[in-house]
Amino acid sequence: MLENKAPGKDISEEDLLTKFPLAAKQSPDHRSKFTIAGVEFGSDHVPVFAGPNMVENKELIIETAKAVKASGADFLRGGAFKPLTFPYRSEKYTETREDGLQWLADAKEATGIPVITEVMEEKYIEPIAEVADILQIGTRNMQNFPFLTACAKTGKPIMLKRHFGCSIRDWLGSAEYILIEGNEKVILCERGVVAPHTHRSSSRFLLDLQAVPATQEMTHLPVVVDPSHATFWRPWVEPMALAGVASGADGIMLEVHPDPENAAVDPLQAVSFEAFDSMMKKMDAVAQAVGRSVL
Ligand code: PEP
Ligand code: MN
Repeated sequence: MLENKAPGKDISEEDLLTKFPLAAKQSPDHRSKFTIAGVEFGSDHVPVFAGPNMVENKELIIETAKAVKASGADFLRGGAFKPLTFPYRSEKYTETREDGLQWLADAKEATGIPVITEVMEEKYIEPIAEVADILQIGTRNMQNFPFLTACAKTGKPIMLKRHFGCSIRDWLGSAEYILIEGNEKVILCERGVVAPHTHRSSSRFLLDLQAVPATQEMTHLPVVVDPSHATFWRPWVEPMALAGVASGADGIMLEVHPDPENAAVDPLQAVSFEAFDSMMKKMDAVAQAVGRSVL
């Protein structure tokens, strides 16, 4: 089943058969095909998920929904419930929670763009599932196994971000927890890993682009790339997004904000509406070169 049986691979033939048989490819060209809110996954189209890190207020999310949709984005992203690294909050740096979820619903109603948003706690799965087209499980919850099961049981499509310290083997193990519940609409997302020398001198994380073909070699599930969280640095988002498309990614997630420098969360990585519009055209050109399309 494995195309590359090179010695030293940490995923064995045995793993594919016994540890994640549902996530494993059944043949070399096996690729999951499904549709979410009219958007095809597993086709030659490369869906784009765009929006702010956090749903800061109603005006911002509606304005962003309109802008990213006009540029060709397929999904609006934005967190109302956020994994914030440090516990201190200010008026600006705070989760908008139920309000943010309502504003996402408002943005969806105003523009028709489908929505992806993160679920952090089991008690909010249901209200979030009522609004979101895709439930995002963030890096920090990637191996919270009972939580994966609870999210899977909603039957909602799920994006499973890769923990920054996890192997592809661990990541596929987590995907299997969702698939085993009969939930087949699982999207994987590579968002950067911790690697030697990435701290300070270059960036917080290293975008593991090699994980795209490596993961696709093992699984039929779509693999999305998030260059915003990986680079943490605006000037590198575009080159890594283009490289993501070139690497064969099945989708790109990008942080887009009307006033990036003043974004409440992660202001160093968001791109402006203008930059996003230009990136969409360039990503489409790269996609065309590898037999796919973004626009
Ligand atoms: C996010 O996409 O908003 C996010 C918090 O990402 P990650 O889980 O990859 O850090
Ligand atoms: Mn598209």
